[in-house]
Amino acid sequence: MGRLTDDCFAFGGQMMGVEAAAALIQARVTPLAETEAVPLQAARGRVLAERLIAPTALPPFFNAAVDGYAFAHQGGAGLRLPVAGRVAAGAVAPPLIPGTAMRIFTGAAMPAGADTVLMQEDAALEGDTLLLPAGLRRGANCRPAGEELALGATALAAGTRLGPAEIGLAAALGLAVLPCTRRLRVGVFSTGDELAAPGTLLGPAQSFDSNRFTLLALLGGLPVEACDLGILPDQPAATAAALAAAAATHDLLLTSGGVSAGEEDHVRAAIEGAGRLVFWRLAVKPGRPAAMGMVAGTPVLGLPGNPVAAVVCFLHLARPLILRLVGGQVEALPRFPAIADFHHRKKPGRCEYLRVRLRRQNALMLFADKFDREGAGMLTSLTQSHALCELPEAMECVRPGDTVLVLPFSALL
Ligand code: AMP
Ligand code: MG
Repeated sequence: MGRLTDDCFAFGGQMMGVEAAAALIQARVTPLAETEAVPLQAARGRVLAERLIAPTALPPFFNAAVDGYAFAHQGGAGLRLPVAGRVAAGAVAPPLIPGTAMRIFTGAAMPAGADTVLMQEDAALEGDTLLLPAGLRRGANCRPAGEELALGATALAAGTRLGPAEIGLAAALGLAVLPCTRRLRVGVFSTGDELAAPGTLLGPAQSFDSNRFTLLALLGGLPVEACDLGILPDQPAATAAALAAAAATHDLLLTSGGVSAGEEDHVRAAIEGAGRLVFWRLAVKPGRPAAMGMVAGTPVLGLPGNPVAAVVCFLHLARPLILRLVGGQVEALPRFPAIADFHHRKKPGRCEYLRVRLRRQNALMLFADKFDREGAGMLTSLTQSHALCELPEAMECVRPGDTVLVLPFSALL
């Protein structure tokens, strides 16, 4: 399953900045080469493997954009044209008899000889004779063939992630399947002797495993085949063996927990035992204990155990790595300006993410209020707030009235 060489990364630093991590992923990760034909109905979220060249013009033929009357524009107003003939959508239009107009409907082919349509709402008729008003330009209310895309033009770039609009465009071009990169096989482990699977009984010193489900849900929005690999015990040998076995059948492995510096944190050592560590510790709060490594050519991300930290590191590491591996354009996370309505001091040298509630003051002003509980372990700080507020590495202080960047969950999760 190995597609990356274990030494494709060569980073010797201690703590990796979020931008450096993104640049490393972009520079060193080679997209998978395999592609497959995907029916449009299953293409949502997939990545287009090749540039899509329009196999037909769009629209394919010259047609009316409104219901009305087609005629040949002759410059002047006040002309009187007898209405001769009628063409509905889907019908092949007879040619326009010179000096007449033809009743026409939206989407119908323009008759040969006609170049303009008078909208039916603007039409004055005397019996069967149309009185042309002033001010109608030649070509009004009709759509020339190829107006949107010429035959042979680039409709979509390679690496485009397919959403409803892209899928609709492919359908409009007559394509029923699209060449996509294959979905990435991503295995997700939780780690920790304290964890119990939801749906089972909780022991006296146990808590339920939530990260596996948060991560599987995050993966649901990406072009992957996510695989639930369960909970690993806090044992180095078992962890290394499980990573090595899973690396053989997956393109990417995600773990959470067990990656700090405690005696019961075995993920980093397991990555080193089964393969090679690329970096350990990301300069981000929450999320510092995160590791990246390679096991038999398969990248492994050791995400932090605290649930909010796991989400932040997923967004910074897993998302760009997945998009890169599937050959997708790695778009930056969507960030919007807001006005801080809080005070906050931070250490420089690491990027910090506060949870904020967003409030619109009038039509234009967006305010961010800091959520009062900041714990990296509290999932309710995500469910009860609206966005992450990004405080860059160099920043030391936020004051009320400062402009900050926020990443709304609705666009992220
Ligand atoms: P660790 O880094 O393993 O010490 O974990 C840090 C914190 O995150 C501890 O309180 C763990 O119990 C918690 N944690 C670790 N993994 C999970 C998980 N899968 N779901 C929920 N909490 C977790
Ligand atoms: Mg643990």
